[in-house]
Amino acid sequence: MTQSSQSSVRVRFAPSPTGYLHIGGLRTALYCYLFARKHGGQFLLRIEDTDRERYVEDAEQDIIEAMRWAGLSYDEGPGLGGSHAPYYQSQRGALYRQYAQQLLDDGHAYYAFDTPDELQAMRDRAQQEGNDAAKYDAVTRMQMKNALTLSEDEVQSLLDAGAPHVVRLKVPRSEMVRFEDLIKNEVTIASSRIDDQVLLKSDSMPTYHLANVVDDHLMEITHVIRGEEWLPSTPKHILLYQYLGWTPPKMAHLPLIMSPTGGKLSKRNAEKMGIPVSVHQYRDAGYEPEAVINFLAFLGWNPGTEQEVFSLDGLVDAFSIDRVGTSGVQFNLDKLRWFNEQHLRQLPLDDLLRRITSPLQAHGYDPDEAYLRRVVGLLHDRMKLAEDLATLYPYFFEDPTTYDEKAVKKRWKDDSSVLLTAYADRLEQAESFTEETTEAVLRALAEEHEAGAGRIIHPTRLAVSGTNVGPSLFGMLGVLGRETCVRRLRRAVEVLG
Ligand code: GLU
Repeated sequence: MTQSSQSSVRVRFAPSPTGYLHIGGLRTALYCYLFARKHGGQFLLRIEDTDRERYVEDAEQDIIEAMRWAGLSYDEGPGLGGSHAPYYQSQRGALYRQYAQQLLDDGHAYYAFDTPDELQAMRDRAQQEGNDAAKYDAVTRMQMKNALTLSEDEVQSLLDAGAPHVVRLKVPRSEMVRFEDLIKNEVTIASSRIDDQVLLKSDSMPTYHLANVVDDHLMEITHVIRGEEWLPSTPKHILLYQYLGWTPPKMAHLPLIMSPTGGKLSKRNAEKMGIPVSVHQYRDAGYEPEAVINFLAFLGWNPGTEQEVFSLDGLVDAFSIDRVGTSGVQFNLDKLRWFNEQHLRQLPLDDLLRRITSPLQAHGYDPDEAYLRRVVGLLHDRMKLAEDLATLYPYFFEDPTTYDEKAVKKRWKDDSSVLLTAYADRLEQAESFTEETTEAVLRALAEEHEAGAGRIIHPTRLAVSGTNVGPSLFGMLGVLGRETCVRRLRRAVEVLG
């Protein structure tokens, strides 16, 4: 049950606007949202925009729109404000510098003046000694140009002269860094494996690590829920919390999303396999937001029951972090299609009409509403995607221009021309044109010609739709209307002979 009174739980989604929101990012946002709502807490959106080099102009807008499309409303963040504003890291620089100073004063951080060439030389030296993975740490820092190797006066004069410098975290040489992860359980890592992370860059902007920790603390975040790719960063954060004298939030790292062919699902291999990457690509491909959300919820979590189809509110009720798995989960586009079909079927007709209009227009179709209602009435149960109407059933909106070759081979017989011409004649004269009358006329005609009804049914479908699969033939004829059907029958006779 969702708690109605507000609890102290505060969860943030903290994307960097370095690109459009991708499907994995939306999964993280969803789990954050579900957890916050489940516990009657607050859900925040924070824009981590300190990396000016990788900043993408319209990414933030895309992230906000994607969340709105998916129905993940936040309580504090861009556009809304809140008691912990600003929610843009680029506007919080003074705070990060203040805490970097505190770390410097307490001896947990130090200035470093090394140039890129000097850093490279250090790695080259290590490599010659057989160490390919040398990093700036307790071992190498004493050979470098920093406040630990220079005198206080030297440091001061470099600073006074405006020499480019960074602030680095002073990671202890050998200590065990431990934290409890709600999903991965106890995580322990030796500090010797952690580098002296840069906290403030030479442009005095913070790195992700410093800004993230400072903000999670100041924004009173109680639970950090994020992808497993951030797990290696967490020990650095734990050290920062410790050195700043703060209690870290509870951590929960979501399992990796795996490619259907194994390995982590990267942007590149997703694209290769035709898996959309950005959330807006799912929207543009006609997936319903409810289906995408339902699918993502199951990408790492399950309710422990047989139920699969959930609304967002239903997910909030059912969600529990204990049921999030630890191992990677395979991305399966077929499963998304299945969810989409389930959610499409549940949509009331009016909602469905609204959702199919733009894909139809994108294909250049603009049918009137009464007609569209009849088409959808016929096809609702067969639809897997809102755009199916335009892509799989274009013949409801324009005459077929070609006939499926295999279908012609199989269905177009010697007597097809004669039978379809006769059928067209009769339909033209029939008193009314409905599902029932088109069928009665066809069956009577078949009997007269001592042919099975299939002799007329199959070529008629081919003539009218250009294919040999589709909804019930007579239902389809009724929706298309007399004039269209007769025209298409005669045209097929002309073309196929
Ligand atoms: N800015 C990071 C990102 O882009 C946030 C990671 C985190 O949640 O700590 O995903």
